[in-house]
Amino acid sequence: MPGLSDLYQEILLEHNSKPRNFRRVENPSRTAEGYNPLCGDQITVYLKMSGDIIDDVAFQGVGCAISRASASMMTQSIKGKKLSEANQIFDAFHLMVTDPISEPDYDTLGDLETLSGINEYPTRIKCAILAWHTLRSALNDQGKKVTTE
Ligand code: ZN
Repeated sequence: MPGLSDLYQEILLEHNSKPRNFRRVENPSRTAEGYNPLCGDQITVYLKMSGDIIDDVAFQGVGCAISRASASMMTQSIKGKKLSEANQIFDAFHLMVTDPISEPDYDTLGDLETLSGINEYPTRIKCAILAWHTLRSALNDQGKKVTTE
């Protein structure tokens, strides 16, 4: 994908081939399912909460490289975080991929910056954001099924 630097593409491909936290969580506190009909990406997100701390987070599903890599990075970035921090990361990520004009909040985003180039590919934004909408559903809406359409 032109527009994404070589380094970013490499990180993306690495997450796709070895996704982090690609598993179930035993006795999850919350789960949610997400679907992106445009691409066919499907995901289930599992959360284990301890008070308002995300003790464990994992995902399963089938989808394209971007949806898998994004889900993998999402689990890494929110594990161990507070609910309020996870919502903050969601907002920063959402703004980064949907608003090319905005200056991304790199402090909050960390490695997620890797996916910043995706906003040049409108059809892939939904792939990148699916895991995040599903996470937000699990966190805040008690697992309503989400769809990007
Ligand atoms: Zn996709």
